[in-house]
Amino acid sequence: MPELPEVETIRRGLKEVIVGKKIIGFEKRDPKIIQFEPENIEGYSISDIERRAKILIFRLSHGRKDLSHVAPSELRGTQLPLTPTAKGGFEMGQDDKIMLVHLKMTGQLIWEENPGVKDFQLRKGPSTPLRAEIRRISGGHPSPDWVAKLPNAYTRAIVRFEDGSVLFFNDLRRFGYMKLYSIQDSEFRIQNQSKYTMTGFSDIPELSKLGPEPFSAEFTVEYLMRKAAKIPNRKTKQFITDQEIISGVGNIYVDEALFYAKISPLRLVKDIKLNEWQKIRDSIIKALELGLEYGGSSEDTYVDAFGNQGTMNDHTKVYRHTGADCPASCGGTIKRIVIGGRGTHFCPKCQS
Ligand SMILES: [Zn+2]
Repeated sequence: MPELPEVETIRRGLKEVIVGKKIIGFEKRDPKIIQFEPENIEGYSISDIERRAKILIFRLSHGRKDLSHVAPSELRGTQLPLTPTAKGGFEMGQDDKIMLVHLKMTGQLIWEENPGVKDFQLRKGPSTPLRAEIRRISGGHPSPDWVAKLPNAYTRAIVRFEDGSVLFFNDLRRFGYMKLYSIQDSEFRIQNQSKYTMTGFSDIPELSKLGPEPFSAEFTVEYLMRKAAKIPNRKTKQFITDQEIISGVGNIYVDEALFYAKISPLRLVKDIKLNEWQKIRDSIIKALELGLEYGGSSEDTYVDAFGNQGTMNDHTKVYRHTGADCPASCGGTIKRIVIGGRGTHFCPKCQS
């Protein structure tokens, strides 16, 4: 499943090409994973794309200017059609909506500028600026769908834009979803509290239970210790990958972070000391920053929105390095075990 760095990279790529586009048609091909009707989205324009944990949040507006980049403080006293709230954010217009997209295991978002063109090639390397000849950009699970003719049997939804470009939502195993919420469902609020997270959606069930974003000010050692005190017998790996405790960290980045921190994934959280929590917190951020720098991992779930495969898997220390010598040169060997059903990679000698 794509984790924070992968979803964030998809967000950045798609944002560059589809913000401002008006939706003139929506084809619902699978009622299980597309949980709204075409008429609820047609006529709207995409005003921004955000991310919370592993979920993409498309802001949809009805013929209004994109104000998402404007700080709430700058909006006060203006004639703009937004209402500042007591909490420091602002409400969107009554017509505005948000669409949530979760790719889960096998979801893909594929945007095609000129539908029907088949000469798109995957390239491995850092993201490059969009060039005229790149006509299809994608994010999510890599498969022949990247270059195949679309739509196909796994296409669950098709979003058609006014300029002729198309966004396909493909999902082989159908664990992903697209859901729509309107202003009546939630107060939309800009928090501006971290580099990678901008929005709180407190009343939306998919978003309200999520733990803090790792790059937010809420993600502190004190927070981790407070949570750990409630579930003392949880293994550290399971604790970190619990989305209600920390948002966006999954199997790749937890294994890497615990290696950096020199903590065994098997340790119970009640046995983690204050200075170790500090190391865990810092290591999670370090692992995610590395993932963002390299455009995420392409190993099992990821290609970025420009068709460049992420290269994070060239930079992992323990994840899927079973049997290799420990990169910390401790003399140990990387071992794979299963914790909570998830393959887990660590060095039993230097991670204690
Ligand atoms: Zn080691």
